[in-house]
Amino acid sequence: MNAVSVKSTAEQTDLLSATQHEIKHALSKLGYKEEVYELLKEPVRTLTVRIPIRMDDGSVQVFTGYRSQHNDAVGPTKGGVRFHPSVTENEVKALSIWMSLKCGIVDVPFGGGKGGIVCDPRAMSFLETERLSRGYVRAISQIVGPTKDIPAPDVFTNSQIMAWMTDEYSRIREFDSPGFITGKPIVLGGSNGRETATAMGVAICVEEAAKKKKLDLDGARVIIQGFGNAGGFLAQILNERGALIVGISDADGALYDKDGLDIDYLLERRDSFGTVTNLFSNTITNEELLECECDILVPAAISNQITEKNASNIKAEIVVEAANGPTTLEATKILTKRDVLLVPDILASSGGVTVSYFEWVQNNLGYYWSEEEVLEKLKKKIVTAFHNVIDTAKLHHVDNRLAAYIVGIRKMAEASTFRGWV
Ligand code: GLU
Repeated sequence: MNAVSVKSTAEQTDLLSATQHEIKHALSKLGYKEEVYELLKEPVRTLTVRIPIRMDDGSVQVFTGYRSQHNDAVGPTKGGVRFHPSVTENEVKALSIWMSLKCGIVDVPFGGGKGGIVCDPRAMSFLETERLSRGYVRAISQIVGPTKDIPAPDVFTNSQIMAWMTDEYSRIREFDSPGFITGKPIVLGGSNGRETATAMGVAICVEEAAKKKKLDLDGARVIIQGFGNAGGFLAQILNERGALIVGISDADGALYDKDGLDIDYLLERRDSFGTVTNLFSNTITNEELLECECDILVPAAISNQITEKNASNIKAEIVVEAANGPTTLEATKILTKRDVLLVPDILASSGGVTVSYFEWVQNNLGYYWSEEEVLEKLKKKIVTAFHNVIDTAKLHHVDNRLAAYIVGIRKMAEASTFRGWV
């Protein structure tokens, strides 16, 4: 086999090219030939749709949406749908590749998919959001389905939106199709534990990383950048496990208190978009927060937060990435050299899709599990994945991010080869 050649690339800021760079490197470490990379570097299918929606004032607005399917050699594709003004086709494509990697890391029988609509859900009414959710399903219904591609919640989408989407899909197909989408309300076939699954997955990674660093989680100082769904639940879970949450932030600013913040109070005052710091005058910036004293840092907000500019100033000995791409490849090198234990995004944020898989299995079986059973299964998956990545890093002498890519892409490369695609 010809090994894939790897050029050392200068700065990798763009999500898609950074992802491709790591995939190329991972396939090369596994000894796959160039053709495998040619297949896996881009999604096999990306659909762009235009969705006309009647707004409450009677006017019509036309929205752009995407659905990207990376590779279905292992099984149907799977991944969330985000509603955000900055959604782009390239972002959705990159994130669908990430879903493949996440599914590979936690070993669930899916390839990666992702969807997005360019819109500002904060400026839309409840009914406009419903019409947009239904319009999107009508536009992509040909290429999705319980055995084809299974959507789920993502940025600014939730169980209510999943409910409208399931209803619309079931109407189109003329039969009840709960396995079409995950992250549904429990009464519509949702899974116990799905809502907190992403945060729970991050928390399990934090626990395993602390054990590895021989750091007692009880009393450990934690900073969480981002106070939305993942960040908020995570603060609550870690707080309950005895950690001291010394810093949190939202898009407007950050709060830091070396003696610990009152998380219950902050959660109570937070609005539905995760904003709370605007209620305080003693805020610092997000950039300042990242460099504050702590033992564990969890970037749970947006990408490119830890770069070569600030990586040397990070005080934490453990960084667990709950956001997508918060650390650049350059910064990863700096942190790894400084012996900071980095738990990469595609591992740390895989709790959501893991419980989505459990939800889909339960929908197919028509038999539902208790929250306790779901959490036990989730823990097993994440702990196994965590140690798989750490062991792979040691085996191949690579950083944890590349190790996660190696674990994540392996099954897909093997399945594509067995199928005779490459
Ligand atoms: N949107 C979540 C993610 O990016 C969940 C995807 C899913 O549950 O399919 O991992």
